[in-house]
Amino acid sequence: MNTLPELNYVQPFLALPKPLYSQVMPQGLSNPRLVIGSASTAGLLGLDVNTLEQADSLQLISGQGVLNTWQPIAMKYTGHQFGQYNPQLGDGRGLLLAQVQHRGSVWDMHLKGAGSTPYSRQGDGRAVLRSSIREFLGSEALAALGIPTTRALCVVDSDTPVYREQAESGAMLMRVSASHIRFGHFEFCSFGKQPQLLQTLCDFVIEQHYPQLIEHEHKYLEFYKHTVHKTASLMAQWQSIGFAHGVMNTDNMSILGETFDFGPFAFLDDYEAGFICNHSDYQGRYAFNRQPNIARWNLSVLAQALLPLIDKEQLVEQLEGFDEVFAAHYFAIMNNKFGLLAPHDVHQPFIEQSLVMLETCKLDYCVFFRQLSDIHEPQVHTYIRNLCLDIRAFDDWYEQYQQTLRRDGQADHEQARASRKQRMNLVNPKYILRNYLAQNAIAAAQQGDYSLVQTLHKVLLNPFDEQPEFSEYANLPPDWGKKLEISCSS
Ligand code: AMP
Ligand code: MG
Repeated sequence: MNTLPELNYVQPFLALPKPLYSQVMPQGLSNPRLVIGSASTAGLLGLDVNTLEQADSLQLISGQGVLNTWQPIAMKYTGHQFGQYNPQLGDGRGLLLAQVQHRGSVWDMHLKGAGSTPYSRQGDGRAVLRSSIREFLGSEALAALGIPTTRALCVVDSDTPVYREQAESGAMLMRVSASHIRFGHFEFCSFGKQPQLLQTLCDFVIEQHYPQLIEHEHKYLEFYKHTVHKTASLMAQWQSIGFAHGVMNTDNMSILGETFDFGPFAFLDDYEAGFICNHSDYQGRYAFNRQPNIARWNLSVLAQALLPLIDKEQLVEQLEGFDEVFAAHYFAIMNNKFGLLAPHDVHQPFIEQSLVMLETCKLDYCVFFRQLSDIHEPQVHTYIRNLCLDIRAFDDWYEQYQQTLRRDGQADHEQARASRKQRMNLVNPKYILRNYLAQNAIAAAQQGDYSLVQTLHKVLLNPFDEQPEFSEYANLPPDWGKKLEISCSS
């Protein structure tokens, strides 16, 4: 296991034409303190997470210094924000320091909050502690749930003041991902009328991420097809776990189908199909139940950007495959959550009706599914039933569930129930990153106590395990914690 200077760095992005990036040095934070590090992200890089606390490492992860093996760049991209094209985007506050090669994989090291760049517009190039902790916990929680996401290596707090609605602590987050290339990169090349640049970028992405396609006759189309499939699969995972992203602008869409850019995101508490987690999303464009449609719309923008390279009919055909890929993944996961074994399309109507019941009854999404494997136990049945706003709707649903299990061919004895419970507990987490839990940890961190952030991270690393010593983290949220409004300012 190595320290940061000992890792194997490269920066292949520098071989790309200049319009795609600017070389920029980070601007350091003063008096940096390590808030938290992720041993599992560090492991991807071959890094010993304990070395991050050392003074020379702390300098590097707080932008006070750079290694001579790093070549920091800010990337240029554009994108559609809330449906409107914005040509002015780019890394306004984050730098791709370098890529790390380790065990056949290559990882971007991206320092977020590293100061202004040519793409900062009016922004200060900084990130605050609150949003850096949210991104750290959010991305590490999704990773532990098995959902594709960018990762986080560490968060650093500091004495540098950053002004949002009020003065806050400046912070930096080291984001780690296989790629920081967004749909917006392709929009920049294409809508900026630079077809040669577009082709160069596509070839770069294919070389880095789809080397098996290099010689393929329709390599650009294949690349698009993979992007459609990965994105559809990601949406199925978000919808089934109850994750609302909040800002699905095309510049926040990863070309690898990873969860990317953690702003006002939220995990659902009470199930509400039209839940809007972004305080600034007045029209509900990015409401929870609109996410798959928005992803498809974003993919249509990407298709448009790729028109100089790919035949329109072929792009449309691939895009039209989105719904089927999404539905296949989504209903397969939902089947598992209900403990059902028949092919995914058999129980689709039951699954849809169950969601209506959850909303009518205002049931907590995570608690409901975690308890579902024991719903035949009188104590659990009564507990869930008493939480319901509409008891008749619950009773009708319960009847349907019993029928569905029988139709699914499931035996109703002790052993069958036990093995079903085992299966269900592997897909229905006991612990999720509820907004109020993040909020409590952030409040303590803002007072200089990082221990709650660390404990919460530890709990979320094993979301499917019982962890009885942490069971309070699985409780229903208090009333004040349910509808926290998360501002976009970060
Ligand atoms: P986001 O809403 O985080 O996806 O950011 C949208 C755009 O605004 C991106 O180009 C960011 O780099 C830029 N941006 C966000 N916050 C800042 C900031 N504090 N300073 C400079 N640029 C920013
Ligand atoms: Mg963004």
